Amino acid sequence: MVQRSWVEIDLEIIATNVFEYQKYIDFCDIMAIIKADAYGHGASRIAKKLVQCGIKSFGVSNLEEALELRNSGIKESILVLGYTPVSLAGVLYENDIVQTVLSLEYAEELKAHGFRNKVQIAIDTGMNRIGLDANEPELCDLAIRMIEKNFEVTGVFTHLSVADTPKESAYTEMQLSKFKEVIKHVEDLKIPYVHCMNSAGGIGFPMVGNLVRLGIVLYGLKPDINIKLPETIKPAMTWKSVITMVKDVKAGESIGYGRSYKANEDMKVATVSTGYADGYMRNLSNKGYVLLNGRKAPVIGKICMDQFMIDVTHVNDVKMGNEVILLGKNAEYEITADDMGAIAGTIGYEVICGISKRVPRIYLNCE
Ligand SMILES: *Cc1c(COP(=O)(O)O)cnc(C)c1O
Repeated sequence: MVQRSWVEIDLEIIATNVFEYQKYIDFCDIMAIIKADAYGHGASRIAKKLVQCGIKSFGVSNLEEALELRNSGIKESILVLGYTPVSLAGVLYENDIVQTVLSLEYAEELKAHGFRNKVQIAIDTGMNRIGLDANEPELCDLAIRMIEKNFEVTGVFTHLSVADTPKESAYTEMQLSKFKEVIKHVEDLKIPYVHCMNSAGGIGFPMVGNLVRLGIVLYGLKPDINIKLPETIKPAMTWKSVITMVKDVKAGESIGYGRSYKANEDMKVATVSTGYADGYMRNLSNKGYVLLNGRKAPVIGKICMDQFMIDVTHVNDVKMGNEVILLGKNAEYEITADDMGAIAGTIGYEVICGISKRVPRIYLNCE
């Protein structure tokens, strides 16, 4: 199905990625992190596939994302990893959504609404984002017990800030040991889930806790460009677009806004029907490349809102309507979101989350 700009998501690859990742973590339980519309892949479709793969809990960023899953029929546990206004305690409760306790202050305000919410308690071991301060294990102990009296506590967790960077492993070890210290204090409470690993943590460090929060690797991308994933884990997403026009450009002419590209010699230029409003980042101007008819073709000129130009001087048989691969692979080359992120000065995560709503998601291997 050829459109203007579209994404194909292979659900079978998602299933394989989960299975392959589970080998690393000795088949420990996984909470699938499907915030930001499953990192741009479409949360409800991905969740449905993951339920078939045996996943029993999901993590999202906010209440709207949680409700979207509930409304699409997901019955499994859903944890909101971030902030929900405490005035929505009743909505959380009625929809059986687990809320993260961000701080003691948050717990107290939530309690005032009088619902015995399901919660998980965040512990801050060095990220300085959310959570009870692990530098004060006794205070954490008291706080967790107070929270436990008023809520149904289904988990305690922390988040690692540099698990994707091997040369900073000492910092991760420090975070893990602070977390273990807090957990030791509250062992008697028999809190069901204790977790600290993201994708990178589960790969790089011996298991701590009984659950891994799996995000980026689920989608087949790397937590960091320098991490090697096994060949069996593959990107689930391919992003395609089409050539809308091909033309000859003479030496000395310029391409696009700001005339940032000047032709040094006569060349063949093609226009692609995707732009920064689709999430094809403007930072790829004069730096990115696409795959076309088995070749690589460099981006020339500035990315426009809905279109951009490529140099196809050395690509054979380029015609209007040809399919272009923005993310994905052909017989010889591959461009992943990690590669594109590196070119644009960001990370693969931002590339896939940034593919905008106007790009339709098409699912392969749905059964
Ligand atoms: C996003 C997120 C994750 C997943 O991280 P990945 O690097 O994508 O595996 C895990 N835990 C928390 C709290 C998160 O916010």
